[in-house]
Amino acid sequence: MVSDNIKIKRTESLDSVMSRLQRVVMAKRLKTSKQREYVLSLIYNSKIHLSPEEIALKLKNDNKDSSLSSVYRILQFLETYGFVTSIEADKSGKRYEIAAKEHHYHIICLDCGNIMEFIDDDIRNKQVEIAKSLQCELVSDNLRIFVLCDKCLNKKNKKDIIY
Ligand SMILES: [Zn+2]
Ligand SMILES: [Zn+2]
Repeated sequence: MVSDNIKIKRTESLDSVMSRLQRVVMAKRLKTSKQREYVLSLIYNSKIHLSPEEIALKLKNDNKDSSLSSVYRILQFLETYGFVTSIEADKSGKRYEIAAKEHHYHIICLDCGNIMEFIDDDIRNKQVEIAKSLQCELVSDNLRIFVLCDKCLNKKNKKDIIY
């Protein structure tokens, strides 16, 4: 069953994610950083896949002193330690989401870059089956489907009528 346009569930509470961050920061003997915590909770609570630029803008709007380069550094750290994952959506670059999320797949519009999410057990099962048929065990999967979304198709159709 494909279920789209649903809010993919978080598999861990924000508190638990934050205390994991604290443990990594302590283990690495780093200074705690309010900005790092802020970026992580921002990504956790976001319904969309955020670009570094959008995160930097959010920080600025919330009167947090920050630069795009420090956002890049924070994102790299968070991705290295498995707190966030990135997805290459279009030419504009990477977008980020929280790693503690139900397993899901992405549909990306090639025109506007909109990213949609869906869960499909049939696709998952098929992959397990394919791996098994090759005497392998499925470890992970990553599916991106590229489309023209309904909004972009509508725009196109309207243009076709005008010209
Ligand atoms: Zn689109
Ligand atoms: Zn996603």
